[in-house]
Amino acid sequence: MQNIIDRFIGYVKIDTQSDASSKTTPSTKKQWVLAHKLVEELEQIGMQNVTIDENAYIMATLPSNVDHEVPTIGFISHFDTTPDFSGTNVNPQIIKNYDGKDIILNKEQNIVLSPQYFEDLLLYKGQTLITTDGTTLLGADDKAGVAEIITAMEYLIKHPEIKHGRIRVGFTPDEEIGRGAHKFDVPAFGAEWAYTMDGSQIGELEYENFNAAEAKMSISGKSVHPGYAKDKMVNAIVVANEIVSRLPKNEVPEKTTDRDGFFHVHHMNGEIENAEIELIIRDHDRTKFEERKLLLEHIVQNLNKSYNDCITLKIHDQYYNMREKIEPVFHIVEIAKEAMQAIGIQPIIKPIRGGTDGSQLSFMGLPCPNIFAGGHNFHGKYEYVPVESMQKAVKVIVKICELTAKK
Ligand SMILES: [Zn+2]
Repeated sequence: MQNIIDRFIGYVKIDTQSDASSKTTPSTKKQWVLAHKLVEELEQIGMQNVTIDENAYIMATLPSNVDHEVPTIGFISHFDTTPDFSGTNVNPQIIKNYDGKDIILNKEQNIVLSPQYFEDLLLYKGQTLITTDGTTLLGADDKAGVAEIITAMEYLIKHPEIKHGRIRVGFTPDEEIGRGAHKFDVPAFGAEWAYTMDGSQIGELEYENFNAAEAKMSISGKSVHPGYAKDKMVNAIVVANEIVSRLPKNEVPEKTTDRDGFFHVHHMNGEIENAEIELIIRDHDRTKFEERKLLLEHIVQNLNKSYNDCITLKIHDQYYNMREKIEPVFHIVEIAKEAMQAIGIQPIIKPIRGGTDGSQLSFMGLPCPNIFAGGHNFHGKYEYVPVESMQKAVKVIVKICELTAKK
């Protein structure tokens, strides 16, 4: 247990926050520090062909130890942390044999991690938890995944009696700003399929995510003295309001769950002369997703008839549901499921209400379901990870390698 704890803590103490406003890859220079450390560690445990490219993408190989042909599979995680919350001076706390009560993260600032609010904590009574000190995030998203993959590879190297095919490992920067997959060299990775170790609670196994688009509307109005504006003024604010009011009222994030899609207006600003609306469209179902985009186009077309073409609409697809790429190769989900069951984990299969790097990779030719890394409450000070969940994730990785070699 100490091995994975030390490894994980070594990673989270290195600040790797990414930055969406940056145009470079990695988006922040500090990500190189952990990237270089990971390269060293991969070499040190005995991985082969360890490479890091000019964008800090890391790849490594564990060669096959069987004579028969086995598909090459991969495991992927990201080493950056979200820009949403500080990742500087992470000071992890280790709570052994968790008693199910409140955990004081920070006495001075009265920051408490309580099972009354975060009920999931009670799943881990008696286990060892790693938490923050209340002032930063933890970075289990996704340094838990990195630690698990390296620990699993080390285990396989030390246990040659476990038979497996060729295994590829990939670590990426900038996942949290949506670019983790952008410069991932799928042909160089050379795996038939892979798994991102980037889910949350133990048991999670995901192969469905949203189809996603963003829309921007700009409205150009006409300002006229309000006392003499009859039939002349076009108030861009009023037009913007009309657009929003014509969207389906119950199809918004705060009123939807599971496989329900939505429109989400997340930015609006306006004056009489100019107004802007930004919204996102999400739906698991590709047909409904396309219908949502059409609906928005119709709303704009109709209003443009009444308001003299004052609205311009731009819709841009962001990512698609990986399910359509996973279904034809569904055995890759079955293997993960079987691996979990073999070590006593009940798989929790549910659609992701968001995207993953795996969805982008799946459309780039590398089918890539997502497996739990074990952490909870990502992107904030209440983030924590049970060590036992990390250990189980290591076992899942090992088991997947083993089962793939048997098929
Ligand atoms: Zn993540």
